[in-house]
Amino acid sequence: MYTCSEKRMEDKIKTFSQFGDAGHGGITRYALSPEDIQARNEFIRRMEAIGAEIKTDDMACMYATLKGSEPDLPGIVMASHCDSVKNGGNYDGILGVMGAMEVLETVAAEKIPHKHNLTAMIWTNEEGSLYPPSMMASGVLCYDYLPENIRYKFKQEDMLNSKSILDANHTFGEALDACGFKGPKENRLNPKDYKAMFELHIEQGPILEAAGNDIGVVTCVLGMLCYRIKTYGQADHAGTTPMKYRHDAFYAAAKILQYLHDELDKLDPELVYTTGEIVLHPNVHTVIPDYVDFSIDARHEDPKVIEQVVKVIENMPKEIVGCRVEYEPAWTRDTVYYDKELVGYVEESVKELGYSYQRINSGAGHDAQFCAYMIPTTMIFVPSKDGHSHCEPEFTSTKQCTQGASVLLNAVLKCDAK
Ligand SMILES: [Zn+2]
Repeated sequence: MYTCSEKRMEDKIKTFSQFGDAGHGGITRYALSPEDIQARNEFIRRMEAIGAEIKTDDMACMYATLKGSEPDLPGIVMASHCDSVKNGGNYDGILGVMGAMEVLETVAAEKIPHKHNLTAMIWTNEEGSLYPPSMMASGVLCYDYLPENIRYKFKQEDMLNSKSILDANHTFGEALDACGFKGPKENRLNPKDYKAMFELHIEQGPILEAAGNDIGVVTCVLGMLCYRIKTYGQADHAGTTPMKYRHDAFYAAAKILQYLHDELDKLDPELVYTTGEIVLHPNVHTVIPDYVDFSIDARHEDPKVIEQVVKVIENMPKEIVGCRVEYEPAWTRDTVYYDKELVGYVEESVKELGYSYQRINSGAGHDAQFCAYMIPTTMIFVPSKDGHSHCEPEFTSTKQCTQGASVLLNAVLKCDAK
């Protein structure tokens, strides 16, 4: 059993936190931005220093490989992303990259024998903060293996045409051509050359911390659905229309939202659901709204519970406070289970290292969930302080980050031994 170096991990955290440092404890590091390129160059520098071979693919995903004693066997990859959301934290994504680097550095420093090639990988543009959608490169690389209702959103030519949210004259394809990391398509992660993928990540929720556990052994990514709920009223003057004559679409939406909360709270307590997006027309303070469209996103491991959510939506009142109510599915995703054997290696490793742990599912999307359709994949979570992520207070201690890397290392070595 081996452990990683807290000192080396601390140095990586400090260094990578500079690339895109927003000056108040977090980073803004969009995919293929100058800050992302700094992080990638640092990745190359550190990986070349231990003798790893660097490759990139046509989506600018990066691969640093330490050759095994039987280099023709399919390799083992550890991957995450180094881009962030706007004003994000120093751990989401980059921890998985730093953890992968730390594993290779430990293998090199301690001359740990391994048969398979071991690769630290960076997925390009996981967040999709500048060039939507999120999980772009994993969507493209895993395209042929994704379910039809997901993959149509990840056609490579559409991705190349994705416009920058800051400047509609610039596309992801242009940024890709200019970034200096675009390589050949044949370098892509693929099921012929790789036998397993591990992703270390912060939990991004409060469960591990609340339970006092060091490690989350991730078993699945929750199934989810997203529906759009629409209410239709009548626009009228806000000053001249008595209340009893109104057909206020926003009031109707509020009633419906209350109805959904009341009904969904009767279902399984592990169900989570959110209305995070709303379109209000005409969105003027002098006009009674005539149209509202809001999202409802619901997640649960058990497809039966997701079905119950659909039933609740289908049974909503068709009319309320004089307004018509309609709904439409935006999209759904089945629960993605991680590879049982790999989950087992993670669990055995945690036990051997003597860390406290629990099995946990992932409510957030990760590149690993697309990868799981293509090659055996699993994830390891470490706690997020106060459950915060996608924000500057995001924090995981160096000790916890290093414990995550140690679990990754031992799980990878178990996988190597097979
Ligand atoms: Zn992430």
